Amino acid sequence: MSGTFKTAGASKPAKTSQTESVTPSATGLLLWLWNGYLKRHTGLLLVALAFMMLEGSMFGFLSYMMKPMFDQVLVGGSQTALIWVAAAIFGIFALRAISSVLQKVLLTRISQLTVSDVRMEMMAHLMTLDGTFHQNYPPGYLMQRIEGDVEAVNKVWKTIITGAGRDVIALISLFAVAINVDWRWTVAALAGVPLLVLPTFLLQRYVRGNARISRDVSARLSTRLNEVFHGIVPVKLNRLEAYQSKRYRKLTRQRIELEVKSSLGQAAVPGLIDIMSGLGFVVVLMYGGSEILSGEKTVGDTMAFFTALGLAFEPLRRLGAFSGVWQVAAASLERIKELLEMVPELRDPAIPQPAPKGVPGIVLNDVHMEYGDTPILRGATFVAEAGKTTALVGASGAGKSTVFNLLTRLVDPESGEVSIGGVPVAAMRLGDLRSLYSVVSQDSLLFDETLRENILLGRSDVTEEMLKTALDAAHVSDFLPRLSDGLDSPVGPRGTNLSGGQRQRVAIARALLRNTPVLLLDEATSALDAQSEAVVQKALDRLSEGRTTLVIAHRLSTVRNADKIVVMDQGRVVDQGTHDELIARGGVYADLHSLQFDAA
Ligand code: ADP
Repeated sequence: MSGTFKTAGASKPAKTSQTESVTPSATGLLLWLWNGYLKRHTGLLLVALAFMMLEGSMFGFLSYMMKPMFDQVLVGGSQTALIWVAAAIFGIFALRAISSVLQKVLLTRISQLTVSDVRMEMMAHLMTLDGTFHQNYPPGYLMQRIEGDVEAVNKVWKTIITGAGRDVIALISLFAVAINVDWRWTVAALAGVPLLVLPTFLLQRYVRGNARISRDVSARLSTRLNEVFHGIVPVKLNRLEAYQSKRYRKLTRQRIELEVKSSLGQAAVPGLIDIMSGLGFVVVLMYGGSEILSGEKTVGDTMAFFTALGLAFEPLRRLGAFSGVWQVAAASLERIKELLEMVPELRDPAIPQPAPKGVPGIVLNDVHMEYGDTPILRGATFVAEAGKTTALVGASGAGKSTVFNLLTRLVDPESGEVSIGGVPVAAMRLGDLRSLYSVVSQDSLLFDETLRENILLGRSDVTEEMLKTALDAAHVSDFLPRLSDGLDSPVGPRGTNLSGGQRQRVAIARALLRNTPVLLLDEATSALDAQSEAVVQKALDRLSEGRTTLVIAHRLSTVRNADKIVVMDQGRVVDQGTHDELIARGGVYADLHSLQFDAA
């Protein structure tokens, strides 16, 4: 479609359903991430894991080398041992360097692939959700979810997966060395561990809670930015700069506080591990001191044990810190999962019927429709004959745009029949249904691309000749010479480099190229001056030839020549006929007419 409706939005039946929101467990989230996005990279992951294990195990080897270094070289004075111990230590560092580089590159690749998969899936999915959803979740919010939350998950990769894998292996190898020296010493060194469990659990909850709120604040921050820059002109004209800055500052302050709290929670776990490690050291020294003094343990044994313990501190602290990072990521993952699991109510039927062939007529029969609890259509009934122009008129709020929303299935009715070419709109695939229409609306949507891209909309089957015919018929050719780069001129954000009338002519050119059997014109000329209106009207007349046209117009002058005029009032069709018939009958239409006539 080449335009948007002003009220594409909320309706009761078209609610976006959401799965019950319970806080998913960490394992549940990991499993979801694994099944959805990571499993497909299993091969690459295994290779990366192998390098990670290699890198991690080098710590164990290093501490193990302390034994021959002290016992054979330093105490034993062996020349040969000196050479092989030196060579082995160099080898250990070299292997560690190589495996570390390789695993980082591999994991970055996997993490980037995963992140882009999640982002693309989110974008594609969010586009399928109903108007209700998009009314509740503004663009800035969704952008933050796709960009910010996914980035937060990527951090898990960078820290947890890359670091944790290596650190776990390092710890295993280091503890193997320690146990090899003396398992009782090892147990003594770990005496403080049970004391860590409860505080860590509490800290994790604290971090996740703060991270969750912080992600929300971030989303609100992007929403603010989005609104301000989209509405930059009203912001300037109403002198809202200071007010908007203040609101933004308030949110950033809130985020600072949350981030500081969250970092306190995150840093506290490694802090606790430090204390526990110090305790372990003391306990072993007290407990094993006599064995060292009596010479029961060699210097090498003692050195190997304490080197292993010393080297274990860092990975232990990092693993402790990961629990915090994971909580932050989990807060984001929760959101991502929640959005991806929302299901649109307006979707393709299970067994779709084919779209009607040829130029179809349109029927609305006793259609009722509500937004929330407010009835908008109350038994609207009319027929728009095939190949003819039918105009919808009525006061603002009468429900005219809602009729368009029903025809294109941006909303579904509570009851009644909405069909096109004899096929109920809900019986067709959404894509098939929407391919029947071209829409030229009051506010034709242009993208911040070139004029050509805006007219072709990604199509590659349009020849230069077809394009030229459409440009001429839509009177785009009239203003092309005035643009610096002709068709390749950028139209600016939302088409702001063009005038209202020019934008509409672009929308008409799009519609001509789409060449659909049905045309929906939503107050297409009401915002234009008399001269532009005349040009646009000519282009529209040309466009409607041989199509079923439904047109909404406030200016009754533009619908005078319609084959039929349907008069709507408060959600009902109160009269229909030709202009002359309706005037002669002297009802709502005649009132509207004299109102406009008098005003003029
Ligand atoms: P018209 O096109 O005749 O001016 P509409 O079909 O746009 O009328 O709107 C009919 C009524 O529905 C209006 O009262 C309007 O306020 C209400 N309405 C339109 N869109 C929405 C929406 N997304 N949510 C709630 N109410 C809406």
